Amino acid sequence: MAQNLTNSLLNWYQKYGRDLPWRVKGGAHPNAYAVWISEIMLQQTTVATVFTYFDKWMKRFPTIKDLANADLQDVLLTWQGMGYYTRARKIHECAKVLMERYNGQIPNNREELLKLPGIGPYSASSICCFAFNQPETVVDGNVIRVIARLYGITAEITAKDIYPLAEKLTSREHGADYASAIMDLGATICTPTNPKCTQCPWQGECFAYKKKIQESIPKIKKLEKKSVVGQVYLWQNEQGAYLIRQRTEKGLLHGLWEFPWCEQPLLAGKYTTITHVFTHFKLTLQIINEKPPFEVSNGIWIEPENFASYPFSTLMQKIIRKMK
Ligand code: SF4
Repeated sequence: MAQNLTNSLLNWYQKYGRDLPWRVKGGAHPNAYAVWISEIMLQQTTVATVFTYFDKWMKRFPTIKDLANADLQDVLLTWQGMGYYTRARKIHECAKVLMERYNGQIPNNREELLKLPGIGPYSASSICCFAFNQPETVVDGNVIRVIARLYGITAEITAKDIYPLAEKLTSREHGADYASAIMDLGATICTPTNPKCTQCPWQGECFAYKKKIQESIPKIKKLEKKSVVGQVYLWQNEQGAYLIRQRTEKGLLHGLWEFPWCEQPLLAGKYTTITHVFTHFKLTLQIINEKPPFEVSNGIWIEPENFASYPFSTLMQKIIRKMK
């Protein structure tokens, strides 16, 4: 049965699969660098958003060498708008390692890929699959949904639970096409709401479709996000410039610029607030148009018309938009 499911999905993909700049139908993409960049961009970012950023990125840094030689500020500015800046920093670091130790080439095996900065098990599998057509099993949110519905899994699940079933369906000969196919099925047909089951190549075998329980599957356990609150200080000098600082400590927003802010209980009174959801926590800041009540040791004064020359975090960009 698994072989039939695999074949019917591959046939469907040849006719209806999406054309994406970082994929090719019929095998491996000729540019492993493009596959790697797209895979990192697609983590936590929609395909529609990645379209624009991928194109911009490939024009700005056409090769691994160009990327390795670029300034980190330039890399962060090109990434600006996609959030999760650690990804951009790791890509830059990785490009340097690739130049130093791998002759500017992306290794074609999982073990070597896993030694590189910013490449975890999911990215390693994706690169092996899409850049080298290897029969790797790639499990993202789309794959979880499609397989959970196909087999009628009603319990709460994770990617780990789905993996053995996904692995059985993975094509040995057409690794890249198969992974693209199942992702496309999830993105275009087996959508979270209103799946188009009548157009699905797996309709005849799908448990959820037969029982009419498609939309109640999958049940994915959501992690509670911690809530953090504080104040951000928009302090202007007489010339109209604002005080900003660069984050120097290692972590999520390292190297980015920001208005000075601190984590403190919310102040009583009416303030405009801004909220941003990070991977593990939700941050809400009250906007205060005053001098910060703490020392800003590495601050500089920047006029609003020059903000675009400094890479700001997504949260700080939200604040800048509020200022307009
Ligand atoms: S038949 Fe419907 S629910 Fe089942 S896999 Fe296809 S689109 Fe998803």
